[in-house]
Amino acid sequence: MKIKLLLFSILFTNQIIAQSYQKIHDKSILVDSHNDILMKAADNGLVFDTDLKGKANSDLARLKQGGLDVQLFSVYCHGDALEPFAYANREMDILDAVVARNPDKIVKVANYAGLLKAVKQHKIAAMFGVEGGHMIEDDLNKLDAIYKRGARYLTLTHNISPSWATSAADETVNVNLPHKGLTDFGRKVVQRMNQLGMLIDVSHAGDQTFWDVIKLATKPIIASHSSVYNLAPHRRNLKDDQIKALAKNKGVIQVNFHPGFIDSSFDAKETAFLEKYKAEIDSLQKSGMHEYYAMDYLYQKYEAEANAMRPPLSMLIEYIINLVGVDYVGLGSDFDGISLTPQQLDDVTSYPVITKALVGKGYSKKEISKILGGNFLRVLKANEEKQPVSNVQTN
Ligand SMILES: [Zn+2]
Repeated sequence: MKIKLLLFSILFTNQIIAQSYQKIHDKSILVDSHNDILMKAADNGLVFDTDLKGKANSDLARLKQGGLDVQLFSVYCHGDALEPFAYANREMDILDAVVARNPDKIVKVANYAGLLKAVKQHKIAAMFGVEGGHMIEDDLNKLDAIYKRGARYLTLTHNISPSWATSAADETVNVNLPHKGLTDFGRKVVQRMNQLGMLIDVSHAGDQTFWDVIKLATKPIIASHSSVYNLAPHRRNLKDDQIKALAKNKGVIQVNFHPGFIDSSFDAKETAFLEKYKAEIDSLQKSGMHEYYAMDYLYQKYEAEANAMRPPLSMLIEYIINLVGVDYVGLGSDFDGISLTPQQLDDVTSYPVITKALVGKGYSKKEISKILGGNFLRVLKANEEKQPVSNVQTN
């Protein structure tokens, strides 16, 4: 009898969670600040408003299915591309065409007010996030131009550094850097972004660049897709003092789902996998496939092995909350920019799994809504304000 009662109460509790998490998920404004589908579409000729199951983590119908309300579409151009600004514009053309074909489903928005209007109309609100300062080609006019086209954040560096800011990759590997952090021109870029109300993104930035930005920025900044160094010591994850400084700046850390940024044992597993299939990867690359897509291909081909490497749904959100509170964390999945995802987060239809986990952990409706998008929206709105917030002193 006692066992029966226990079972009943477990079932009952599960049912309550099932009902309430879906309701909370639907009522919250769900924001993902980093999705690389435009890069994949540009590289492989994928059409975003068709069914891309098996080819990509995202397509328009599945974004809707996952309950997504706001998407920052990453505009990414490989560091060695010859005309990065033109390349960025071609990627933006792809989204503009999707929006033109689907005015009832997705709309480009310029600001917070436009975003709320789109959400009320049950349309996906779309903005760009340009991933890599090299795409403005050392020209403030080009920064203004991408802003005009709908870019609402610029990731100052990707793994390669523009001439005016150093990346995490360069700061940790390249010992012969001519400078570290922001140059004078880099400071002008940051100041212009603050003026425009464009979010400064420090994902991929080196420590020195990060601290230079924190000192200079007059508005809250973001890490559009970064995770926690203390959980997985990757050079481009955020250390505790950086997370604290971001919170002090009233910014937000949008957590990245990449297994290597979440699980400290993942890199060794991936290296072993790459060793095992080296010959196959080499031959795919010889046939012209980019290394990144060769990985995608092999993970799909050897699905069981790949699945065994996927970390469980991580507690990285909770780590940040425990460190600085619930107001400075959100989601920057990196879907379609990563070859593997954590367990249960198969594609963009999986967002409700996160809400369910947060409900299960006992977070309130209000707290969950902040994590799912409210925190990011607060930062977006603060950047639009004409009067800059006071500068943050870090020491
Ligand atoms: Zn990235």
